[in-house]
Amino acid sequence: MTDDPHIYGFDTLQIHAGSRPDPATGARQTPIYQTTAYVFKDADHAAALFNLQEVGFIYSRLTNPTVAVLAERIAALETGEGAVCCSSGHAAQIMAMFPLMGPGRNIIASTRLYGGTVTQFSHTIKRFGWSAKFVDTDDLDAVKAAVDDDTRAIFCESIANPGGYVSDLDALARIAEDAGIPLIVDNTSATPYLCRPIEHGATLVVHSTTKYLTGNGTVTGGAVVDSGNFNWSANDKFPSFSQPEPAYHGLKFHETFGHLAYTFHSIAIGLRDLGMTMNPQAAHYTLMGIETLSLRMERHVENAMKIAAWLETHPAVEAVTYAGLPSSPYKDRAARICPRGAGALFTVGLKKGYDACVRMVDSLELFSHVANLGDTRSLIIHSASTTHRQLTAEQQVAAGAAPNVVRLSIGIEDADDLMADLDQALTKANS
Ligand SMILES: *Cc1c(COP(=O)(O)O)cnc(C)c1O
Repeated sequence: MTDDPHIYGFDTLQIHAGSRPDPATGARQTPIYQTTAYVFKDADHAAALFNLQEVGFIYSRLTNPTVAVLAERIAALETGEGAVCCSSGHAAQIMAMFPLMGPGRNIIASTRLYGGTVTQFSHTIKRFGWSAKFVDTDDLDAVKAAVDDDTRAIFCESIANPGGYVSDLDALARIAEDAGIPLIVDNTSATPYLCRPIEHGATLVVHSTTKYLTGNGTVTGGAVVDSGNFNWSANDKFPSFSQPEPAYHGLKFHETFGHLAYTFHSIAIGLRDLGMTMNPQAAHYTLMGIETLSLRMERHVENAMKIAAWLETHPAVEAVTYAGLPSSPYKDRAARICPRGAGALFTVGLKKGYDACVRMVDSLELFSHVANLGDTRSLIIHSASTTHRQLTAEQQVAAGAAPNVVRLSIGIEDADDLMADLDQALTKANS
């Protein structure tokens, strides 16, 4: 099939994009190409591949046919030009920033992010000489003011952890465009079924495929999708693309590969030298999951709406953050940025505070207490005592992970069963 997203709809692309019957056997399902290396036709073929003059398979640290099908499928669903798959969502974040950054460079990052991302950005990237300035991305003036000559990207989540708040992608994309830098959007919690950040001006989209894209809680993985829309040569901020690359005889990635410059660079330099490669088994599990993405997301959203509305009226509950609720200050923005629903992730504040949260988490039977989200199973976590534990009290509150707050990731079980489980746990929490 052709993978043109303007010809096929989302439900078709999630099953077919990137895959063809196996040329050797006719196998209809994508085989797991469990191989490290690929035989060259001859010495000239090998040389052309190594010079990037011809595209093909050399070694599975760079490319693998099973992983390539997944990369193409995610790119198609996100309306991107190309994508690379990585070993985890966190690897994808480093891979996304790698060609943009250098010692002394910074990114502007939203204060509302996955807890592990806050830690990666606050501490670990400093080892590379990179830094992040955390800004409330709802304060557009503060975002503008934070951009300086060393800023190389703005980073946010479409539906942001842990509260399920929706970021104003169009407004952030305009600020990034004026500054001549890309907007990077982590679209893990929304998935391309609910939100397509490239349509709102994002240059790069990152995913933890560990979550909804796989959907069954079996493997970790990540992806970076390139819109292909950014002019890397418009200013001198991105020498990785605009200047000669010494490791490839002075080849200029943007000049040579045009719209695919970012994707080629991520494979030829990023995966080659950082080695954060997805393995073909992981790609297989994610390909199994992604075939039913739209069906799952519809049920996730339907259940989340029901449960959030019910929780809002529960006597033990102080507040519910779900952006799909009529009471949410994000309701209109959610309808604009993610018209098919505001996801299935939100937080619940309990009137009786930290201890009640701990009792609730310990009393649930159907909900699993895990550091994960976006599974078919319903999940819960008390962020302040786990994922957001390393953060200061101010950072916890800014991130929406205050001590009296639990985060729910609503699964696709029967909503009535989930509400019954929450009700008995809330009753115990409140006693
Ligand atoms: C889980 C997650 C990550 C990190 O992904 P891993 O696959 O766990 O490395 C990043 N961002 C968001 C929004 C996530 O939910």
